[in-house]
Amino acid sequence: MPETPKSTKFLKKALFLDRDGVVINYIPYLSRPEQVQIPEGAGQALKNWQNEDYLLIIITNQSGVGRGRFTLEDVESVHERVCEIYQPFGVEFDDIFLCPHHPDDNCQCRKPSGEMLVRAAEKHGISLADSFFLGDAPSDLEAAIAAGCQPLLVLTGRGQTTFQEIDQYPVKIPVFDKIADTVILLNHDPN
Ligand SMILES: [Mg+2]
Ligand SMILES: [Zn+2]
Repeated sequence: MPETPKSTKFLKKALFLDRDGVVINYIPYLSRPEQVQIPEGAGQALKNWQNEDYLLIIITNQSGVGRGRFTLEDVESVHERVCEIYQPFGVEFDDIFLCPHHPDDNCQCRKPSGEMLVRAAEKHGISLADSFFLGDAPSDLEAAIAAGCQPLLVLTGRGQTTFQEIDQYPVKIPVFDKIADTVILLNHDPN
């Protein structure tokens, strides 16, 4: 039996990513692969994060499933397209966690819960304290704070609206115009 790592030294780092409005351009209740488009510079940016040994893990609420607007199979085909569209940049997502539930289901996983981040950390041996969650919605920032990882806000998707209320959060949240700008964080790594 492999020993559980006791020190964060043996744990990995991750860039957790919201899907809609972050990894792909925001379309409400997007459900078809042909709707998938990625922001300019996103492919190279995520490749840079990957090169710095950050796992790339998508954390997404898809209540459209619980609302009966589309199926889990639709979500799967969208995610296949997302992976395919990033492939030419050498970007490989390490995992995708999704909450398919309706908000009224009171599930454990739906953001703003930090549950999906915690599950991802356990599954992949990630130090949440050394990881980032890049999102565009208040629920992304709240999930990051709940899980103990650093929230980052991008102003694409619903980000401009989220930015209006950024002062209400108990931690400082770095803000980026677009996903490509987040690579500046890699240049400030003290190691
Ligand atoms: Mg979003
Ligand atoms: Zn859920």
